[in-house]
Amino acid sequence: MDFFPINLDIRNKHCVVVGGGKIATRKTASLLSAGARVRLISPQLSDTLKKHAAAQHIQVEPRQFIDSDLDDCCLAIAATNSEPVNRQVAAAARERRIPVNVVDQPDLCSFVMPAIIDRSPILVTVSTGGASPVLARLLRARLESLIPHAYGQLADLARRYRNTVKKTFANSQQRQKFWYRVLQGGVAEYVFTGRNDQADAAMEQALQQSDDGMGEVYLVGAGPGDPDLLTFRALRLMQQADVVVYDRLVAASILELTRADARRIYVGKERDKHTMRQEEINQTLADLALKGHRVLRLKGGDPFIFGRGGEEIDTLAEQSVPFQVVPGITAASGCASYAGIPLTHRDYAQSVTFVTGHLKDGSMNLNWQQLAQPHQTVVFYMGLVGLPVICENLQKQGVSADMPIALIEQGTTQMQKVYSGTLATMPAIVEREKPRPPTLIIVGEVVQLREKLGWFLSPQHASRGATSPVIAES
Ligand code: SAH
Repeated sequence: MDFFPINLDIRNKHCVVVGGGKIATRKTASLLSAGARVRLISPQLSDTLKKHAAAQHIQVEPRQFIDSDLDDCCLAIAATNSEPVNRQVAAAARERRIPVNVVDQPDLCSFVMPAIIDRSPILVTVSTGGASPVLARLLRARLESLIPHAYGQLADLARRYRNTVKKTFANSQQRQKFWYRVLQGGVAEYVFTGRNDQADAAMEQALQQSDDGMGEVYLVGAGPGDPDLLTFRALRLMQQADVVVYDRLVAASILELTRADARRIYVGKERDKHTMRQEEINQTLADLALKGHRVLRLKGGDPFIFGRGGEEIDTLAEQSVPFQVVPGITAASGCASYAGIPLTHRDYAQSVTFVTGHLKDGSMNLNWQQLAQPHQTVVFYMGLVGLPVICENLQKQGVSADMPIALIEQGTTQMQKVYSGTLATMPAIVEREKPRPPTLIIVGEVVQLREKLGWFLSPQHASRGATSPVIAES
């Protein structure tokens, strides 16, 4: 180790910053957030520093640095753009045995400041020993995404219960087991989702029983296919659940991100081929949680958009099974982005409507008159089989036969294909190309923008040597 990491208590202690620019401003903010009293020496001040001075957060000496500025302080930072001044500060600090940091000059530093992930009271710090601040920041960004924002509140909760837990479990091994259980289980989840009262109740309950008790269901949107489109929360819960209940729409590459030792239950849901009836799925989720499992109900896209997520948690609510819902990127957003079709656009569409194009007895029970209104975009989920019916009905209501329409097959995945045409030509294109589900249909003027805005080239196309990210048909 080039530096020995310690966390310094500088609350209410005098710290000196020399310099008044951007970096001095940043360092000052750091010191203030640790409760220091900052004295700043600089003839010029940034706007933020002026505000701090006006609000009396800091004391400012509007002049050049002199060595005696460091008398009676506990830490010094030199952040000027003058090397001689920085050297002078470093020398004066060393003379007084005060820790000193000189911006961008590791050789003059007696300490370096790490990049910080602040989940107070938890601090995670990343240091490259002054070798590369940018590298430290990159690492910090990666860690930021891994640590839920409310982690600090979890630490507060642990602190509040520390003594009680100590009294309840005299044996230190038991105590440790208890903490592992609550800090990665339901109690933690309550804290992360702001349900602090429930966290306390679950904590009290956990203290009284030796096993896990009631489980929880996580209704999680897995997005349209590309694993990069998962949310941080989705990923965290995926790695926590011990049972995974999933259906056909969830991509294999996403399922791989669930815990390797989790039990996986496939509940199907292909068109007209339901492996498990919806009522059975609902009850399975409740039963598993009642047995104490942490159940991940993983759904394609967003669970509340044509996902029957509402029905599933309805059963849970009736049986008092705790649950949480994690939104996902719905197919319309995912497919539209990856196909280069903005769903709304000032010049073409002021609204967007999501409808189901599921055929029942050969027809769709939709308000066609409304869907045929101009200046809007209409997105059909589950519309592949009914595509000819969609094209026909819209034209019957007066929409031009030339209205652009796109059909996106396996959107956002490596297999994505985009077919486009008009209401008049699309049925024949689909008949010929036979796209495979899942597919999404977008109708509206905005579809024509993809010629210019398409950016995603799936390997499927690259390997066929296509030059455009989309299949242009008309
Ligand atoms: N809850 C999901 C929708 C479930 S309904 C969501 O929010 O996206 C299933 C329909 O979603 C499919 O028939 C198809 O129309 C659409 N869909 C889902 N994923 C898709 C994808 N990757 N590409 C194209 N369409 C998709």
